[in-house]
Amino acid sequence: MHSNQATARIKMLTEMGIGPVWLPRYAEASHEVGGVSVLVDAGPVHIEKSSFATVVEPSIDATGETKVNGVAWLDELLVPDASALPLSVVQSVSEMGWDDLEQAVTSCRACGLCAGRQKTVFGVGARSAAWLFVGEGPGSEENIQGVPFVGAAGQLLDNMLLSLGVRRGDRTYIANVVKCRPNDQNGNDRPPVADEIASCLPYLQRQIALIQPQVIVALGKTAAIALTGSDPDTPVTQLRNKVHIVAGIPMVATYHPAYLLRKPREKSKAWQDLCLAQQALDGKAA
Ligand code: URA
Repeated sequence: MHSNQATARIKMLTEMGIGPVWLPRYAEASHEVGGVSVLVDAGPVHIEKSSFATVVEPSIDATGETKVNGVAWLDELLVPDASALPLSVVQSVSEMGWDDLEQAVTSCRACGLCAGRQKTVFGVGARSAAWLFVGEGPGSEENIQGVPFVGAAGQLLDNMLLSLGVRRGDRTYIANVVKCRPNDQNGNDRPPVADEIASCLPYLQRQIALIQPQVIVALGKTAAIALTGSDPDTPVTQLRNKVHIVAGIPMVATYHPAYLLRKPREKSKAWQDLCLAQQALDGKAA
């Protein structure tokens, strides 16, 4: 790897809180750069041929459960049926092309969130992305800019993408479960409630159908629950560590970048999740 590239990558991984814990699995010799132990031959992260996540065939354990590298695999789940939207609207959303879909989101009044919005946040990225990242919903800055994941959490997400060898807009698409900002009476961000999620989900479902990503990464509990249709009380820890199938596409749940900013020690787990997602992507690509 070119030393500038190596230094940039190390900086980014360090930023993510990922130390040498995982690096030795992929290289032969290590040295120190800027106080971080690095491996000389790790090579650039490359998405077409996975360099850090070996594609492993699923195996069946003694209990009959199919696993990859010891984690449960292919937990078949379908995107839940939505919605608070009238059936006719859901049907028409499910047939829309990109332009109509974006227009429908811009003018949507299906739930109360439209009342306080400045801008809808449709999503950003390549419409034929291999990676789809799904967050919760716009915060105050996203509401102003109309772009998902700006600010500190967005910066961390961008670093997570870089760790996978991709950039925002390059083989990636970033969307949210809800397209308008949920905020409480004091003007603070809050998670969307069930009927807001149900109203908005058909838009995300249509985005998934149009993009046909090779893998979906659910960022945080709201996205993981909305995509899997799990009980809203399910902790994200219970949804991690396995590959769900959502609308026929592998989906891996991880922590929300905003949570990782508050709990940096969990970043190494998020890295494991991204590796699992890479495996799922490679498995599908193979
Ligand atoms: N958090 C999200 O889930 N989405 C955003 O767009 C911003 C913050």
